Amino acid sequence: MKILYKALSKRGILDDYYVSDHFYRIEFQQRGAPHVHSLLWLKDQEGNSPPSYDGSTESRDECIQFIDKVISGKLQQNDSDLDENVRFFQSHAHTFTCRKKCNKIIIKPDEGHGKYDGVNRGPQLTMNSCRFKFPKFPVRKTTIVDAPDSMMSNDIKKCWKDNYLKIRRFILRQTYCEHRSEPNEDFLNLTFDEFLDAVGVSEEEYMNALRMSVAANRSGCEVFLKRDCRDVFINNYNPNVLKVHQANMDLSFILNEYACVAYILGYLTKNESGLSRLLHQIEVESAKYGRSTDEKMKLFSRALDNSREVSRPEVVYRMLGLHFCSSTRTHAFVQTGHPHK
Ligand SMILES: [Zn+2]
Repeated sequence: MKILYKALSKRGILDDYYVSDHFYRIEFQQRGAPHVHSLLWLKDQEGNSPPSYDGSTESRDECIQFIDKVISGKLQQNDSDLDENVRFFQSHAHTFTCRKKCNKIIIKPDEGHGKYDGVNRGPQLTMNSCRFKFPKFPVRKTTIVDAPDSMMSNDIKKCWKDNYLKIRRFILRQTYCEHRSEPNEDFLNLTFDEFLDAVGVSEEEYMNALRMSVAANRSGCEVFLKRDCRDVFINNYNPNVLKVHQANMDLSFILNEYACVAYILGYLTKNESGLSRLLHQIEVESAKYGRSTDEKMKLFSRALDNSREVSRPEVVYRMLGLHFCSSTRTHAFVQTGHPHK
C-alpha cells in the first residue's frame, strides 16, 4: 500500500492531480483477505483542490469534467491489455455480501420486457437486490443526478417511479444469468439509443426516472458515470491506477460534506459486528439472570478482551506488525493544565 500511495502522491496517475493527503484503514472480511477503505485529497500543480458541487450548473459541469478525467466505469475498447484487467478485476459478480439487508425482487412474467411489458411473457424471476447497486444504469454521459424535489407533485413522482421500476426490471431481466450460461449478448451490444428504444422511454423520461433511485434523505445527489449496456457490471476505477495496482477498486467522487461524513461513519470507522452481537447477548442474558452491574461490566470487559473473530490473513498481518491505518495528518494530545491539578 505504501508503494501505491507513494505513486499516487506523484503527478501523472490521476490526470493533472496528485494525492496531497490521505487516510486509509485496512479491513478484513470475516474470513477474507484485507481490503482498504480510503479517503484521498487531491491537488493540481498550482495547489488547487478539485471542483466541488454546490448545486449550480457551473460547478456541476466542472465536477463532471473532473470525474471523467479520473474515474471510469467503462471498458476502454481501445486497449486490450487494460480491458482484460478491467474484466478480471472490475467486473462485479454477486456474492452473499451483496444480499446483506437487501430485499428480494420479483419480476412477473409480463414485466422486464421494456416497451413490450404486458405483451411479451417470460419466466417469473426472483432475485436478490444487490446492495452495491449492480447492474448499474447505462448513461450517455457522466451526470450528477439530483434526488426529486420534495415539493414535486405526487402524480409526477409516481410517473417517474413507474418508469424507474420498468427500466430496472428490464435491465435485471436482460442481465439475469441463472438459467443461461452466457450473458445476453443482444443486450450488451445495444447502443444507448437502442437501449432507450428497447425500454420504451425518452431520454428525458429516463433521466427523470434515475432521480427516483437517488435517496432524497441522503446526500441528495449521485454521480452516474458514462456507461454503455456492456458496462453495467463494471465497477468504478481509474485506468492508470489499475495498470500499476492490479486489484479491484471502487472509486467515488465525494459530492458534498454529507457524503463524506456518511462514508467515514459507514466504512472508515465501521464497528465489528461479530463483537456487537456478543455484547448484546451478554446484555440480554444479564437481564435474564439478574446480574449486578459489576458482574455485567466484568463480562463485557472479558468479551472485549478475549473475543473477536479473526481471519487467518489478519493473524499473519498482525504478527508481521503491519499498519492498520495510515494518515498524512496526525494529532497529538498536548497537556495544557497545571501538573498538580
Ligand atoms: Zn452484487
